[in-house]
Amino acid sequence: MSESVPPSTVGHLCCGAPNPGHPRHYCGLFGVFNHEQAPELTYYGLYALQHRGQESAGIVACDDDGQFRVHRGMGLVPQVFSEERLKGLNGRMAIGHTRYSTTGSSHLRNAQPLTVDCSRGQIAIAHNGNLTNAAQLRAELEERGSIFQTTVDSEIIVHLLAQPGPPGDSTLVQSIRRIEGAYSLLLMTTNELIGVRDPHGFRPLSLGRLKDGWVLASETCAFDLIQADFVRDVDPGEAVIIDRDGVRSIQIFPEHRRRAFCIFEYVYFARPDSAISGRNVHQVRVAMGRQLAKEQPREADLVVPVPDSGNCAALGYSLQSGIPFEMAFVRNHYVGRSFLQPTQLIRDFNVRVKLNLIGDLVRGKRVIIVDDSIVRGTTCQTRVNNLKEAGAREVHVMVSCPPHQHPCVYGIDFPERDKLMAARYSLDQIRDYLNADSLAYLSQEGMVEATGLSPDSFCMACYDGDYPVPYDASLDKHIMESRRARVQTLGEGLAEDTRQQRLF
Ligand code: SF4
Repeated sequence: MSESVPPSTVGHLCCGAPNPGHPRHYCGLFGVFNHEQAPELTYYGLYALQHRGQESAGIVACDDDGQFRVHRGMGLVPQVFSEERLKGLNGRMAIGHTRYSTTGSSHLRNAQPLTVDCSRGQIAIAHNGNLTNAAQLRAELEERGSIFQTTVDSEIIVHLLAQPGPPGDSTLVQSIRRIEGAYSLLLMTTNELIGVRDPHGFRPLSLGRLKDGWVLASETCAFDLIQADFVRDVDPGEAVIIDRDGVRSIQIFPEHRRRAFCIFEYVYFARPDSAISGRNVHQVRVAMGRQLAKEQPREADLVVPVPDSGNCAALGYSLQSGIPFEMAFVRNHYVGRSFLQPTQLIRDFNVRVKLNLIGDLVRGKRVIIVDDSIVRGTTCQTRVNNLKEAGAREVHVMVSCPPHQHPCVYGIDFPERDKLMAARYSLDQIRDYLNADSLAYLSQEGMVEATGLSPDSFCMACYDGDYPVPYDASLDKHIMESRRARVQTLGEGLAEDTRQQRLF
């Protein structure tokens, strides 16, 4: 080994993320049109989408007098909304948002949905994704007199919509055509709920039906919770406009644009009980595990998932190989945020506290451990060491997607390239660092095959560096600065969270 792999200096100490060592989610969107309990349904919808963002949550409801009522706060959905807070929101239309910040700092003022009262009336917006031309548009708007209240790129869309223009849909169309990058949006005016997906379709957005009303959500699992019927996915480049006359559809980008759905939704982000492009996410992950077993067979006694992220792929590996599946790691579901300072001891504790190993199951056994990704390697190394300390004879690490070698500029919090383990080290170096007997990743072709869709459907830039939407390299700097700002202000945001819990 020519270069040793240094111990990671990065620990997810304050994030409350479901799985340390994984990239964080971005945002969840949920909207309701024409239901007497729109705010309550939105609350439950956000509950179902909590995995997409745990830093802040918010709901804007439009009451029967056409007034917007807003509540936003730092923390998880049940921390942000008490019963009284929900009662203060009423109306037959609402949109909600759960956020993990990928641009802008983690601060209450950046919590969404955002609202604006302009010459067009009131507009609320909830956004999932990252705009790749945000810096340029913001500078342009500021030059023309726009005053920004937040540091999030979503506010740019609100300012574009608030610009003077003809009535009707053309302002919406012209505004959306100016933004570039990855976005799914919910917009609410006093009489319309609008869902928009970017022309490449990076982020999911689905339409559902509930009695006489309509719902829009980032993932279909939110429909199940409120017993709404899935109608269809919003198409890439489409705006779905819902008003008292029903649902209209506008294709904002009639010219052909490359499709680029984020394949990492199938690998990790989306909930397994969601369906995207007609494919159930659990079944796709099982197929990835099966494919991995075909590509990377091993002689072993047990297949063990890293819960919960590796569960489906490990099941697939086991089914394909015939090697017994065993839940040897037990997850502690009651671990929340840690406020302790990041000493190495606390870092180790944070990695261990969420999962405990049933040593008797693995003692003397050859174990295949399956997870869906290795980003920095720290967490995986701890799991391998857990298994070896418990007496596992061999530990083979299997990853149900290819190595992550490039940062994401479309809204996923992958670290800079120099912190991505696979970008810096060879397979053998990583295997040695993990202390594993072997290490293998699913091939890119195998990953795509498991989805049953064409390779042209996907963005896979974090694997192969082929970015579907060109971006200014200086954006890397902008994104990283935003992320640093987010980390710096996280303590401030949490302080607000604590204040809020005392107040309500
Ligand atoms: S770069 Fe990776 S994580 Fe980002 S949108 Fe593309 S596939 Fe998803």
